[in-house]
Amino acid sequence: MEERRGNLKFNPDRSDFLFRAGILFSSSLNRRQTIANLARLAIPSVADWGIIDICLEESSPSCFLIIHPDPQKKILSQKLQENRRSPLAAVDSAKLFVNPKDKDLLQVIRNPEDLPIIKALGARSVIAVPVVSRGHRFGVIALFSGNQELTGSKFILTRKLAHRTALALENSQIFDNLRRAATRQKTLDRRKDQFVAMTSHELKSPLSSALAYSQLLEKRLSLRRDSTSLLYLARTREQLDRLSLLTEDLLDVTKIRVGKLELKKEILNFDEIISTAVELSRFTAADHKIILEENASVKVAGDRNRLGQVLGNYLANAVKYSPGKKKVIVSAKINGPEVVASVRDFGIGISLKDRARIFDLFYQAATPQASSRGLGLGLYICGQIIKLHDGRVWVESKKGQGSTFFFSLPVIS
Ligand code: ADP
Repeated sequence: MEERRGNLKFNPDRSDFLFRAGILFSSSLNRRQTIANLARLAIPSVADWGIIDICLEESSPSCFLIIHPDPQKKILSQKLQENRRSPLAAVDSAKLFVNPKDKDLLQVIRNPEDLPIIKALGARSVIAVPVVSRGHRFGVIALFSGNQELTGSKFILTRKLAHRTALALENSQIFDNLRRAATRQKTLDRRKDQFVAMTSHELKSPLSSALAYSQLLEKRLSLRRDSTSLLYLARTREQLDRLSLLTEDLLDVTKIRVGKLELKKEILNFDEIISTAVELSRFTAADHKIILEENASVKVAGDRNRLGQVLGNYLANAVKYSPGKKKVIVSAKINGPEVVASVRDFGIGISLKDRARIFDLFYQAATPQASSRGLGLGLYICGQIIKLHDGRVWVESKKGQGSTFFFSLPVIS
């Protein structure tokens, strides 16, 4: 007999039964739906009626289902549900009984008082199979037949169905765990972003005051020609500057992460952006010779300060990571519809492995310059700023021979 439910026909004698069962199981990650699918496949195709007892959530009581398609037996089957506990025993291995005795039935049914009801519902043959995957026991499926004898092939089929049910339940459990972990991660990320935003914002005002007072102090000490104190003050200023750069970077990162880094775009002469950044870096990097090798006189749509920040960062890194070397070469070239800026140094270089992640947030390559390292924020911010300008960033480098950092921007024709 071929049973039709919904749009699918399930006939256990068909060679593709298990294949179709697999498709049905993989169609949902909902555990209740998986149990409904199991019931739909097993009854009445495999047996007359059945009980499915499955634990849907770890550490919560199992949920059980009694499926009897005969409407006249419905009221009787409901009696089994009266005490709200599954009538099934904790079956730990697959069992098949034909014409079972009470002692056989009691391997499947927990309470001897339920036996008369089970028999009245029809128990000429019984199959009971634990639903287990990789050692995790989800529950039991018990199938009963009142008239027809349940055969060895139906026993094997039920075991396969139970196995597929367990796999489907396991998949949905993995999916739920991943979803929960992702939600937890998102909450933690949001809290971390809020914390970083709040901290960097709170750091800004004491830092500004400290910088302002240090300027006043510098004036007074200059008047007194106190060179030793002026030297100490200069060191203090260096550290304060470093701290405020880090604070600015942290603020930028939080803005980027919540999508609030806004650009003030205007039409810019690209060569001006390059020249200004080079002049500024010559001022701060006294030990290096910053050479502007080639400039590109094109127009781009961009945020002047933010593009200056990217170049400033590339240049500061080029100087920082090429101790003992003198030259840093800056260049801008037109390349089809875009302009490509590059900053080349002859310093420590970056390994292939580090290059792949160098623009990632917080990424820092293993460098001997541990003391002068920041937080691994600068290149991430550069990458994001250029991305917001519809451009690209990349690096070429050879360990021990130096690095060239690039970015490209679309040119306005
Ligand atoms: P940091 O504040 O740590 O310098 P960045 O994001 O600017 O952060 O740089 C990330 C890492 O990339 C650095 O820690 C450094 O290891 C490496 N790096 C950046 N620029 C260079 C360079 N020009 N040469 C060698 N390594 C570099």
